[in-house]
Amino acid sequence: MPIFATMGSLYPVFASLLVFASFACHGSLVETEDVSISEADPVALQKKYAVGCPRIISRSEWGARSPKSTSNLVTPLPYAVVHHTDGSSCSTEASCMSQVRGIQNYHMDSNGWDDIGYNFLIGGDGNVYEGRGWNYKGAHASSYNSYSLGISMIGRFTSLTPGQEMLDVLDELLDCALSRDTIIPGYSLFGHRQATSTTCPGDALYTKLQQHKHYVYISGSVGNPLDGEQCSL
Ligand SMILES: [Zn+2]
Repeated sequence: MPIFATMGSLYPVFASLLVFASFACHGSLVETEDVSISEADPVALQKKYAVGCPRIISRSEWGARSPKSTSNLVTPLPYAVVHHTDGSSCSTEASCMSQVRGIQNYHMDSNGWDDIGYNFLIGGDGNVYEGRGWNYKGAHASSYNSYSLGISMIGRFTSLTPGQEMLDVLDELLDCALSRDTIIPGYSLFGHRQATSTTCPGDALYTKLQQHKHYVYISGSVGNPLDGEQCSL
């Protein structure tokens, strides 16, 4: 596991805690009904950029429930883990908000987690949706939760490839994370399947990730695999 050796100086705890853990994390997502494209609002589809960052729909905007509890991330982080939600895609702000609310309900009520698992989600409408956000540890990739941002592309990308806009927004979000020192400049990006036994983020999206300049081939786990909540979809 050479990648861990490179991180050793920054995160010596990793070396002593290398434990491969394989969790069956993927259950059936309770999918929410998608909203018809006819409801698309051209104004809502326009991106509203902050400097260097994509538009991020806040928790209050999408109607998030309050978390049961939170745990702070220690930043900057060495990893970004990409997922898919393995459910319906969405193409409008309204339908993506509905999807995100449904995922939060599933993670909190069915999985028993403290909150929606991911730090951020990216919709087919070109927006980012705030999950646990920049500051709180997610529940998305077992032992990587404390050391990574978990970003999930809304949809099922097993054979369907995400649109270029979604991929561009992923880059913008990662650049934003860099600009605010949430991830280290040499961060490693990988797909959820590299951390545990899962098909996430789907073959098509995983193929795209492998072309990313920060993609690294790693497998196995770091940290404490029994550290709090486990992984999600
Ligand atoms: Zn996943």
